[in-house]
Order: sequence, then structure tokens, then C-alpha cells
Amino acid sequence: MQKDTQCVHSGTRKDPNTRGLTTPIYPSSSFEYLDTPENVYPRYFNTPNQKSIVRKLCELENAEEGLLFSSGMAAISTTMLSFLNSGDHLVLQKDIYGGTHHFVTTEYERFGIEYTFVSNRAEEIEKAVQKNTKVIYIETPSNPLVLITDIAATAQIAKANKALSVIDNTFATPINQNPLDLGIDIVTHSGTKYLGGHSDLCCGAVLTRKDLAVRILATAANLGGSLNAITCYLLERSLKTLGLRVDKQNRNARIIADYLQKDPRIPKVYYPGLENHPGYAVAKSQMKGFGGMLAFELDGREPERFLKNLKIITPALSLGGVETIICSPAKTSHQKITDAERAELGISDSLLRLSVGIEDADDLIADIDGALIEN
Ligand SMILES: *Cc1c(COP(=O)(O)O)cnc(C)c1O
Repeated sequence: MQKDTQCVHSGTRKDPNTRGLTTPIYPSSSFEYLDTPENVYPRYFNTPNQKSIVRKLCELENAEEGLLFSSGMAAISTTMLSFLNSGDHLVLQKDIYGGTHHFVTTEYERFGIEYTFVSNRAEEIEKAVQKNTKVIYIETPSNPLVLITDIAATAQIAKANKALSVIDNTFATPINQNPLDLGIDIVTHSGTKYLGGHSDLCCGAVLTRKDLAVRILATAANLGGSLNAITCYLLERSLKTLGLRVDKQNRNARIIADYLQKDPRIPKVYYPGLENHPGYAVAKSQMKGFGGMLAFELDGREPERFLKNLKIITPALSLGGVETIICSPAKTSHQKITDAERAELGISDSLLRLSVGIEDADDLIADIDGALIEN
């Protein structure tokens, strides 16, 4: 089946009682256990609603098994803690989601886990690997500069060094990028973003091979970050239009990136679909679409004034919804890191990150243009 068909049909458990077309919501937290193959319990990650979505996501990511979490950070932290022991070493990209950066820098020391931050260049990732490196963690396109990391090269480095490769595939979605096909061991998602897609739910997912999923489940059941049935229902509903939404977001982002690039008031545009983006060639080889995320810098204009002048595009946190939103990474996602670290990452105070929605591209461009004129 192709992606759009999987989005609609994979994993759906039609209602056996009423013959309704959608998976019913099974809110039970107590399940009978006599004569059943396994004990079912929400925190064991095996309720019917959890399993139904895991099936859909597995088909979309070409994974064998998966787990659904109550947030993206629950998925990421549980995965990391499943494989990293005291004395182990982690190599991770420095331009990653602020929350992941924060998790590593504030928690790992007391667990005795070592880590090295690297750029998105494969040579640098390889150089940072030590004898005790157990996990290599990347995010591509990255947040907020949409830098591109070579997925196949990273997977290769991990294999050669008997480490696990983990990728945060949130920005790309399974529609635009399937890292498991390129040799990556584990994919994580913040489902709060594109998978949910309507800025109204919080969840996360891990997709991987069966043996690794079994290991993650053991830690996940201890940490307890599973997803409730109602949110599962909302997520399943959202996923039916994932392909449609992402396709439109890809197209809108491209149109806006092209527009911004030609505008003299915008000195710099970051979008992996632009030929002058440093990661363009790699992005083209590993992505089916370039995604709905882009970033740009304003010329001398006051970013806050520009944001307040916008009428459709809303300055807001998070990303991946049907509505176009914008944020200043220095004031939001990357607020917790130091000024020096921000400067090193190339995140200036005039950088703005756009999460492109599914509105009409002409309206979005008119909104940006109007806010620039009024500035
Ligand atoms: C939002 C986000 C996360 C964290 O997800 P939550 O659902 O907020 O816990 C992780 N990675 C990326 C790339 C994100 O955008």
C-alpha cells in the first residue's frame, strides 16, 4: 500500500459490534486475564487503541514494532534510558530540539552517562565515537535551521562501531522520510507536531525492530509514559490525513521559501529544498519531500514588531499544525541554552522559524509582505 492508503486504513480495528468504520475508543484500564495471551494494561503499552495506531505508524515507517507515548520527550527519554548505562557514551547532534538538549545536559551527569555534542557532519560524528559509545543520536531536518544530516552515513558509522543509531524524525514525518529504510535502528517522533497535526494533543512514538522494541518496553513500563485511549483516538483520526496535510505543507513551504529568497528585506532563508541550502543534495537523496519547516532572518527590522503585525500567521510555540505559526527560537525553543551556545549554533535574535500550515499560500505571503511593510 502507498502512504495515503496506509494513513487511512492501516491498523484500523473496525467496530465488531456495530460494524462502524472507525476503531472504537476502548477506555478500559482493567482487562480480564484468564485465557488471554498477554495481560493488557495501559502502562504495558498494549491496549487496543495503542496497538491500532502502532500498526499504522509501523507501516508508515516500515518498522516491525513500536510504542506510543504521552509526549515526544517521554519517547526520547525512555529510549535513551533503555540503552544507556552508567559509563556509556552518547554522541549527539548539537542542533537538536531544545528539550532533548536540556534532558541530556541536566540529567545525564547524575546517571554517569558521558556525551559529546557534534555538528551535523558525518565526519565529525565519526570522530566523536569512543570505545564506550552506545548510541548515536541525530535529528534531520534539525531545529531550527533545518540542517540536514546524512542518515545513511550515520547509520553506517553506528553499525561499524556497534552502537545504536537513533533519529528524531519529527520534522520530516514518515511521509517525507523513512530512516529505518536507510539503516537507522530507532525512529522517534513528537506526535504533538505533524502526526497530531491540529495543535490539540500531546503524544510521542518510537518505531523500531522487534528486539529493540522489547528492550524499550521493559524500561517504558517502569517509567510509565504511555498514551491514554482518548488521545489515541484523536491521533488515529489525525493520521488519516497525515499524507494530505504534509503534501500541502511541503508545497506551501516551497512557495514561501522561494518568495522569501527573492525578497531583499530577507537576507537569509533556510529551507532544505532550496538549491543553495548546504544540505540540499543530501536532503534530495534521503527525503521524499522537503517538509513544512523553514527559517529566515530579518534585515535590521525589529522581530517583535514584525510578529505583532502578522494577521493570519500566529506567533506561537510548537509546530506541525494545520495553521501557520512562527516563533523566535532565541525566545522560545532555544531560550534555555546560553547566548554563546546560541551564537555557535547560528541562532541569531533576528532568526524566525516558520511552521507552514495548510492555508492558501497566497494569503500567507500577503500576510508576511504586509507585516514587513508595516515594520
Ligand atoms: C516538540 C519536539 C519534541 C518533544 O516533543 P513533546 O511532544 O513536546 O514532548 C522532540 N523533538 C522535536 C523535533 C520536537 O519538535
